[in-house]
Amino acid sequence: MATVPTKVGFVSLGCPKNLVDSEVMMGMLAQAGAELTSAAEDADVIVVNTCSFIGSAQQESVDTILEMARLKTGGRAKKLVVAGCLVERFRDQIRRNIPEVDAVVGTGELERILAATGVAGAATRPSPFTILTSRPEGDHRRANGRFARDSWDGAVADLPNYLYDEATPRVLATPGYTAYIKIAEGCDHPCSFCIIPQLRGQFRSRRFESVVAEAERLARSGVREITLIGQDTTCYGEDLGLKDGLPLLLEKLAGIEDLRWIRFLYAYPNKITGKLLDTIAAHEKICSYIDVPLQHASATVLKRMKRGGGADLFLRSVEKMRRTIPGVTLRTSFIVGFPGETEKEFEELREFVREAQFDWMGTFGYSDQEGATAFDQGKKLSLREIEGRRKSLMTIQKRISRAKKKALIGREFELLLEGASEETDLLLAGRTPMHAPEIDGKVLVNDYPEGVAPQKGEFYRCRVTAAHDYDLVAEIV
Ligand code: SF4
Repeated sequence: MATVPTKVGFVSLGCPKNLVDSEVMMGMLAQAGAELTSAAEDADVIVVNTCSFIGSAQQESVDTILEMARLKTGGRAKKLVVAGCLVERFRDQIRRNIPEVDAVVGTGELERILAATGVAGAATRPSPFTILTSRPEGDHRRANGRFARDSWDGAVADLPNYLYDEATPRVLATPGYTAYIKIAEGCDHPCSFCIIPQLRGQFRSRRFESVVAEAERLARSGVREITLIGQDTTCYGEDLGLKDGLPLLLEKLAGIEDLRWIRFLYAYPNKITGKLLDTIAAHEKICSYIDVPLQHASATVLKRMKRGGGADLFLRSVEKMRRTIPGVTLRTSFIVGFPGETEKEFEELREFVREAQFDWMGTFGYSDQEGATAFDQGKKLSLREIEGRRKSLMTIQKRISRAKKKALIGREFELLLEGASEETDLLLAGRTPMHAPEIDGKVLVNDYPEGVAPQKGEFYRCRVTAAHDYDLVAEIV
């Protein structure tokens, strides 16, 4: 008698890096015979892949686990599994405080998802998952305690050291025309507000050939847009002894015929080299788009954040990016309300934002993380002050964005159509090379020539006809 496959429902929270982990776990489960469902209420097993980046992300993770626990007690699900960053941080508390949770899977043990869900079948090959490369900088920081988490309740002693490869099964959760590729995992930087290194381990890169092989496979399966991700993509290859690893990788991927757009996210400011900029400028398929989270612009705050740099240096760097890549789209993000941030330091940041004129900008209020160096430093600002500063910075950016978007009216761009707009079926929506998936504004399409039937996942030429604060309106030409 044929066995009925176990239905597994996945809830993936947090950033694209976590999404790729979810896709890998779904791939392993599907390969082992499980049926995946997007409706948690229909699932025999529910997996929540959590985020632990900042306080609000942790709260969202806990709320989701509790919601899924209710589905387990009052519904069909027999098992609840929690995976991801929250497990690395609060392994024992989750088990102790939420008895409905049957198993936990940390960020470094994704292959355990089969045993955790109880899905029959085993990995079809020996585990390829342990990568043993590191950067001297990371080794040095490790020796000095950067990755220590001994005081964390239930944290396992071994740091995560997992990376998928091109042969790892993966089920894409993104539309078929676009995919993320994680090219590296972990982070060696010392940023004092961040516990991601303790959650994700030391920086390690995937093999060059592995990334290329995955990109080729994705292109053969219909993917046209690739977004390279990692905690810091600009360090790519350093642990493998590769010089200019990211530019070489981008160049190689640009040679894959079926790919149309290639971009990378999360550049570290002082790792944006002339070679990287030249490579972006030289290849049409590499989107003229740089996402460089700067976190602050006041040199004194940046020093306390253990990042270095400052407004003058950053302005010169921005100017160089614009000079080398005419028309480049620049995205950044900032943290406001860092412990001890004075009015004067915040004003430096405001002034920098006015001068730098970023195309896209995100602002996070500082979130206190036990285990991060900043936790014990400086005078903490109140939540009200932090939120006030966040709003104040976003007000400046809104004006900049509005003017920048208005200046695009009348210009033509390549457009990737993504289907009906979320707001109304009367409009279509898409993105241009200026828009990375999910994080940037969008292009609303309100007109196209007679005889054209626009298709989701296809590329068109569009002309911008109107602009809002962050979104554009365009017609297909
Ligand atoms: S670069 Fe800094 S903020 Fe980003 S993951 Fe690494 S330590 Fe955290």
